[in-house]
Amino acid sequence: MKTLRTLLFYKFARIPNAEQFAADHLDYCHQLGIVGRILVADEGINGTISGTIEQCDAYIQHLRQQPLFEGIEFKIDEEDLHSFHKIHVRYRPEIVHFGVPNIDPNTSTGIYLEPDEVLAMLDEPDVVFLDTRNKVEYEVGKFKNAITLDIDTFREFPEKVDELREQYKDKRIVTYCTGGIRCEKATAYMVQSGFEADKIFQIHGGIIRYAKETGGKDFEGVCYVFDQRITVPVNEVNPSVISTCRICGKSEVRMVNCANPECNEHFVLCESCGWKMQGACSEACQQVPRLRPYDGTGYYCRTGKQLFSKAKNAHRPAFSSTPQQ
Ligand SMILES: [Zn+2]
Ligand SMILES: [Zn+2]
Repeated sequence: MKTLRTLLFYKFARIPNAEQFAADHLDYCHQLGIVGRILVADEGINGTISGTIEQCDAYIQHLRQQPLFEGIEFKIDEEDLHSFHKIHVRYRPEIVHFGVPNIDPNTSTGIYLEPDEVLAMLDEPDVVFLDTRNKVEYEVGKFKNAITLDIDTFREFPEKVDELREQYKDKRIVTYCTGGIRCEKATAYMVQSGFEADKIFQIHGGIIRYAKETGGKDFEGVCYVFDQRITVPVNEVNPSVISTCRICGKSEVRMVNCANPECNEHFVLCESCGWKMQGACSEACQQVPRLRPYDGTGYYCRTGKQLFSKAKNAHRPAFSSTPQQ
């Protein structure tokens, strides 16, 4: 029996004195002994945490009893291992960095679709699915026939989605992301920027909840997550693999960070190529003197953090980026 839980959650809520809230919340998490990464902003809370069943139950209680977070939803995964090493609670300007002022999902956002409603829309001719996630995420998994955007961060979304308005004006657009938080802002932006409000939808709870409640039909590949699990399975109905090993081209879902700390690119690498390349993404990266020792996981611990932030691909690694859903 799996004894640990990973919780994904967010809530848009006006938190008074959010900076102090973040400090107090960190103390609470320390006392409770959970690990994970939580962002707090004036606009709400966004986190992924990992702990024992008892710790996670206590955490859920703790948030739910605060009127501010009334109705907060948790996506719960059962795990054998912790999804994080430590606990981080940070105050930030936004709980998911979008960079567009005056976007408030509490006042206007896309129409929510429950997972079974999504199932019913999968093969509708006037429906398109729009992936609001980054390239590194949809390369390992996405809805069948989904529109994807050539973006490395969510901040690039507004500019790219503006280009779609004319082409898809007669379609109903179903947006999705990992756990739903990005679509809250993405669809709020779309509605405010001239997409027809009654044609813009978002999957309530994202890919993770759709997977849990429907078995994940027509999701190709796996779902990228922003913790040590890197990816989680989605589809038990008609599963497939859409990603391939960077080196040998064989079907593969395993993602690693390049062992060259200056590169640190997050990419797909099979186990045998992993050993052959010593965890590097290319021969050039394999030659660098500061190559990190490869242990078969392609995951490099917090000691590499300084290097992470200086690396040119610092936005890519799963472990140093902010939790996104
Ligand atoms: Zn390979
Ligand atoms: Zn590299």
